[in-house]
Amino acid sequence: MEIKKAIEVLSNAKYADEFQGDEELTEATIMARNALEYRLPKRPIETKEIAGHKPFCCPTCKTVVFSSAFCNCCGQAIDNTILKGKR
Ligand SMILES: [Zn+2]
Repeated sequence: MEIKKAIEVLSNAKYADEFQGDEELTEATIMARNALEYRLPKRPIETKEIAGHKPFCCPTCKTVVFSSAFCNCCGQAIDNTILKGKR
């Protein structure tokens, strides 16, 4: 199963109804969904030019990211195709 599909399944409102009354299962489902969100590559945010450079930031924690596939600060997977094209 692809990560995007797993997030979709875990976010499905039908599941939330089924979990009503089972707080542990609900909490575990939310934790799993949030953990999967970090594995889904997200496009970095382009910032304003600073000293001749336009740094890109992690969309999750806003730390500057370079050409790595993951944010060094929070571990968010980064869609680094835009970074490789510009640096
Ligand atoms: Zn980050």
